Amino acid sequence: MTTGVLGAGALGLSCALRLAQAGEAVVVLEREPVPGGLAAGFPVGEAYLERFYHHLFRTDTTAVALIESLGLGPRLWWGTPTTAVLFQERCWPLDSPTAVLRFRPLPWLDRLRLGAGAAYLKLVRDYRRLPRATAAAWLRQRMGQRVYDLVWEPQLRGKFGDHAEAIALPWFWARVHCRTTSLGYLRGGFHQLYTRLADQITRLGGRVELGREVTAIGRDSDGTVRVDTTAGTYRFDRLAVTFPTRLFLRLARDLPAAYRACWAEGPVHLGAHCVVLALERQLLPDVYWLSVTDPGFPFLAVVEHTNFLPVTDYGGRHLVYLGNYLPMDHPLYRQSDAEVLAAFLPHLRRLNSAFTPEWVREAWVWKAPFAQPVVTCDYLRRLPPHTTPWPNVYLANMAHVYPQDRGQNYSFRLGEKLARLVLGAVRAPVSVAV
Ligand SMILES: Cc1cc2nc3c(=O)[nH]c(=O)nc-3n(C[C@H](O)[C@H](O)[C@H](O)COP(=O)(O)OP(=O)(O)OC[C@H]3O[C@@H](n4cnc5c(N)ncnc54)[C@H](O)[C@@H]3O)c2cc1C
Repeated sequence: MTTGVLGAGALGLSCALRLAQAGEAVVVLEREPVPGGLAAGFPVGEAYLERFYHHLFRTDTTAVALIESLGLGPRLWWGTPTTAVLFQERCWPLDSPTAVLRFRPLPWLDRLRLGAGAAYLKLVRDYRRLPRATAAAWLRQRMGQRVYDLVWEPQLRGKFGDHAEAIALPWFWARVHCRTTSLGYLRGGFHQLYTRLADQITRLGGRVELGREVTAIGRDSDGTVRVDTTAGTYRFDRLAVTFPTRLFLRLARDLPAAYRACWAEGPVHLGAHCVVLALERQLLPDVYWLSVTDPGFPFLAVVEHTNFLPVTDYGGRHLVYLGNYLPMDHPLYRQSDAEVLAAFLPHLRRLNSAFTPEWVREAWVWKAPFAQPVVTCDYLRRLPPHTTPWPNVYLANMAHVYPQDRGQNYSFRLGEKLARLVLGAVRAPVSVAV
């Protein structure tokens, strides 16, 4: 039996690894020239850096176990860098109870309500015990309108745009409950994890074929699954698809009409847009993560990677991400890199008055579709099961991660679950919660 796995991101590679470890013949097909999907990296000096900012939390136990099992444990680096919000052109840390109490833009009583509300979410162990509500409604009611307007609304809007008011409370609960201030990073880049995964799959007899874009998925009359790619046609006994549901429906055109109609309106996704700058000098005063809530900025997050990792890892470059989540048809994706830089760089002087464009040694602009599912209250009803109308064809993608915000850890976990489903070790359909 040969199993095809479509996509060499965290999900596809962890699924393929478990299949290969179970003695299955497995072939992974991936469009990009490097593995890693949304967590893929590019070379910067001696190291690799993710196209989009990435770190781990202490609760990412599946990712940590995988890193250790692949011999990369000694490269895992933990720290507690400062995360802050920008309010009236000043960075305010908001990552600890004391920081909340020092957050002077809010009156005392509101600071207490903010701290108490966050503490409550930390204490609630099961999100199903929370009211069925949007995060916005719950936050307003629990922490007050002023806290919502000043702290949460700009963050929800930054992340989800016009969908901010519709985000489900369980998603917000998971952001607070499951995340830690202690953050982890694989020194040298997560790229090492993905290449090591691909190497291990190969060592176990599987194949990871990069640079192969899947253009169609179908079935032959004998039930074999057929996958057309830009590098030829493949035939498999079983297929595990890790693409977004909408892309799967587009590629598998012969799926029954009723199935296609049922899932065509799958969860809305936003795309991600990130400018990465290699600077001569430090930009932010020891802040790793800055949520930009002040109006007028063309980006929602400034992540100074080298305020977490040593600059010496990158040949002395200070690495800064300027990130955005935007609808996938947003005009920013069509702008040239020069246009994007011309629009973004002047705003850095509002963060550091000494900044000049001469600080920029190198710059990269990265874009990805299907980067952030929009987790609304009807979200679970929009997720297809992992089994499909075609026997032996399975579907799991990062939208199936719920209620946690998508992340490498949960895709690794879902990939392992998908492998168990493919091997028949669990009864279909497996639950969507990971
Ligand atoms: C801005 C941003 C910040 C993030 N920050 C963090 C973080 O700090 N920590 C963290 O753990 N996670 C973070 N994540 C999330 C993390 O990157 C994802 O959850 C994870 O990488 C998803 O893996 P996946 O395999 O499920 O999906 P993907 O990585 O999307 O994998 C799908 C794969 O399918 C391939 N593919 C798509 N279409 C085709 C085709 N037609 N033919 C062949 N191949 C195709 C893609 O190239 C891709 O490799 C972040 C994501 C973004 C966008």
